[in-house]
Amino acid sequence: MQLDHLTMPQFEEALRRTRTIIQPIGAVEEHGPHLPLGTDTLQVQAVARQAAEKSGAIAAPPIPYGVCRSTRDHPGTIGISTTVLRALVIDLGRDFYRQGLRNFIFISGHAGKTHLMTILDAGEELLETLPDARIAVVSEYNEILREGRDIIETEDDSHAGEVETSRLLFLHPDLVRGTAPEEYPGFPPHILVRDKRRYWKGGVWGNPGRASAEKGESLTKIAVRHLAGIISRLESQEVPEPPRAP
Ligand SMILES: [Zn+2]
Repeated sequence: MQLDHLTMPQFEEALRRTRTIIQPIGAVEEHGPHLPLGTDTLQVQAVARQAAEKSGAIAAPPIPYGVCRSTRDHPGTIGISTTVLRALVIDLGRDFYRQGLRNFIFISGHAGKTHLMTILDAGEELLETLPDARIAVVSEYNEILREGRDIIETEDDSHAGEVETSRLLFLHPDLVRGTAPEEYPGFPPHILVRDKRRYWKGGVWGNPGRASAEKGESLTKIAVRHLAGIISRLESQEVPEPPRAP
């Protein structure tokens, strides 16, 4: 089920069958010269929808923006601040709860460290304030696709490379404009740099030349299966009763 496709009575009816909502979070971020700016959103939205179908949960429409740091100087990257992302996740969590939902999965297609930490921080805040809510924060790329490392030939592939180009070739071949040269950025360790593009010219991290739609299909299946597994573990989790007032 997709939240934004349901009518009011359909939502009420859905609540009798599930209390679980998946909130995908993407980004508008450069993905080399060959992939669309919404790559992270497109990937996570597809996985959220398919996992919702598989598990009977509700998939919310994706948050299309994220916190982007290392690509912010590249043309096309449009980001939001950690303050806004944190507030947005907390606001949505509170409204999910107010509408009767109890299991929330915030899954991000964008794997920026600051971005993920912000979602995690918002999740912890919701956990403190909503006593019987169960919350999972998932990085699609870092956690779910670990199993896919057998499929991927490029060792250090992370951004607009073999993995993401494969996934887009499977999900949206019409949005893939050819390919791009293999590239690995050389940011100096520990030191924060102002001119990020100087260290990451093409905006690719990995090797798009090794991508295929077949690999993309396998990786998508892995991601859907893992997300469905997280949903069922979250739904069956024992949550202690909130302490009663004396
Ligand atoms: Zn990406």
